[in-house]
Amino acid sequence: MSNRSTRTALLAVVVLALTSLSAAQSAPPPAPYTVVSRDARRPLAVRVFNGQEMFAIDDLAALFNLSVKEDTIAGGLTITVRGQSILLSPNQEIASVAGRLISLPSPPARDGRAWFVPVDFVPRALALVAGTPIELRKPSRLILLGDIRLPRVAARVEALGALARVTLDVSPATPHAVSQDGSRLIVRFEADALDPSLPAASPVPDLVQAVRAEGNTAVAIELGPRYASYRASDAPGTRGNVQVVVEVIAKTTETPVPPPATPPAEGLPPLDLTPTGTLRTVVIDPGHGGPDEGARGPSGGTEKTVAMSVARRLRAALEGRLGVRVILTRDGDAAVGLDERAAVANNNKADLFISLHANASVRPGVTGAEVFFLSLEEYGDEAQRAASAPREALPVFGGGARDIEVVPWRMAQARHIERSGVFARLVEGALRGRIAMSPRALMQAPLRVLVGANMPAVLVEMGFMTNPTQEAQLLNDGHQGEIVQSLVEAVIQFRDGRVPPDPGVAGAGR
Ligand SMILES: [Zn+2]
Repeated sequence: MSNRSTRTALLAVVVLALTSLSAAQSAPPPAPYTVVSRDARRPLAVRVFNGQEMFAIDDLAALFNLSVKEDTIAGGLTITVRGQSILLSPNQEIASVAGRLISLPSPPARDGRAWFVPVDFVPRALALVAGTPIELRKPSRLILLGDIRLPRVAARVEALGALARVTLDVSPATPHAVSQDGSRLIVRFEADALDPSLPAASPVPDLVQAVRAEGNTAVAIELGPRYASYRASDAPGTRGNVQVVVEVIAKTTETPVPPPATPPAEGLPPLDLTPTGTLRTVVIDPGHGGPDEGARGPSGGTEKTVAMSVARRLRAALEGRLGVRVILTRDGDAAVGLDERAAVANNNKADLFISLHANASVRPGVTGAEVFFLSLEEYGDEAQRAASAPREALPVFGGGARDIEVVPWRMAQARHIERSGVFARLVEGALRGRIAMSPRALMQAPLRVLVGANMPAVLVEMGFMTNPTQEAQLLNDGHQGEIVQSLVEAVIQFRDGRVPPDPGVAGAGR
């Protein structure tokens, strides 16, 4: 043996000795994995040998119904699963799985009579013969067994002035519903369990105190004392995931509200801003729909149904009395994205966009209708530029050029703010004559659904679902009729060019 190899061997002994010392004395035992199947969650202990996390073969045998036989002469291990064999040999990083060779990150380890295999043995060997899907998720220390739906849910909370935005990145995309339960918003998933990674702290505790797991299949957003209402929407992701965006809106504030940071879905064409002239097409946008039921009242009434009902009645009234074309962004209980809603209006060259909602508050006493239009200041210089965009001549099919203006979608509403304000005042005035209004009935706010609308656009919160009296009213035919009448009146006044005095809107966000 040369000097050099003696030194190497000695060093190896020292390293081994140190490794076993630290393993025995200082290193805390690693956290177990959890084996999740449709009907159970079981822990699976992990031990570390030479820096490799390993499972005991005996534990795997019990969990996966394996039969294990040690070949005392050859020194190997034969594991039988559903009539197929996995052969392991000591000191070998190669295993044979039903006659096929696979590699492991390290050879099996032994402690007395017990055998241990690297955690990768589960996906690389066991999964091939188990006859049921097995997925190992190292970061969350999970083993998924069988066809179970266990989406990863990564949450983050951002402070945006008078808003807190909670974004849940859900992978793979999983059906879900957002609802309010007292001082919490619950995002419930149609899944067997969740694989959550939630923020330790919130940057806006007065709006969002915390985001926690709620049972096995829901995430709870604990609301803070400044909470007034919320809006939930979905943004489809690019890798089969979906982003659930919950905007938590503060009661009132003196601080400016920055615009929503999330840009509309990519791939939308630039807008054709050819003027439309008189009132020909009205788009009505019943809020929420599908799994997103919006605000829920104490008796179980939902915002999405009230919005749908009023929208249909308003459509009938406008078509019948004004002879205008009316399009709904959803006609039925369907989930529609916020940008899609604006796109429906833009693609149909609507002259007016009316979004219908009902509000929610943690305090059941809060009451009254509110009318919103988009606040422009928050959008800064870009909005000002968009509002005075130069005209461009674009080539058209068949030759020649057409004079159009091009602005990005997220600035589409900028040039209509003034007209939106006029319409909002008309709506507010008409509603005031017929139903109870909030003390701050006319407000400007950075509402996502309005941002991309290329026409005067307002959002009406018809009342508070969370107030028992208001819930009953909102579900009542007669009351809904008053709202419809008010809106028809406002649309007629708007068509006729009525401009009510500007009271100087002191809305949310200013
Ligand atoms: Zn709503």
